[in-house]
Amino acid sequence: MKRAIFPGTFDPFTIGHYSIVQRGLSIFDEIIIGIGVNQFKKTLFDDAKRLDIIEQAFANEPRVKAMVYNSLTIDFAKSVEADFILRGLRTVADFEYERTIGDTNRILSGIETVILFTESTYAHISSTATRDLISYGKDISKFLPPNVRI
Ligand code: ADP
Repeated sequence: MKRAIFPGTFDPFTIGHYSIVQRGLSIFDEIIIGIGVNQFKKTLFDDAKRLDIIEQAFANEPRVKAMVYNSLTIDFAKSVEADFILRGLRTVADFEYERTIGDTNRILSGIETVILFTESTYAHISSTATRDLISYGKDISKFLPPNVRI
């Protein structure tokens, strides 16, 4: 059984995140989406709402689960017996960040990070832009996974 975690802030979970998880299901038997909670990082959506959005998106996919965690990502991976960390890469700007964190995680724990390149249709989508649009009262349904209401 190949199990991966897909960790992130997911404030909120977007169609870009959704696409990475869907594609990850062709590599992994099970994906646990880990919603990282950091007391120093203020979010627009609280933990329960971020969890609710992901549960709506994957209501019909038993191989995907979602959990909130407030530990180090590698400790969360170990606690759910996952051997891989799944991440998405949009731009060159994402690359250095992902490489540093991926290397650190592997050196500390032996857990490998598997990175998928974002589908170009979703490369411009970010949680930050989604939050900005919400603050101006704009419709963000195109940025969210199918079947999700916020
Ligand atoms: P973090 O705070 O850990 O960066 P995010 O919620 O912003 O958490 O992102 C989680 C993961 O999803 C990261 O690997 C990020 O690069 C990836 N990601 C974010 N937006 C997209 C997108 N539009 N398409 C694909 N992957 C994405």
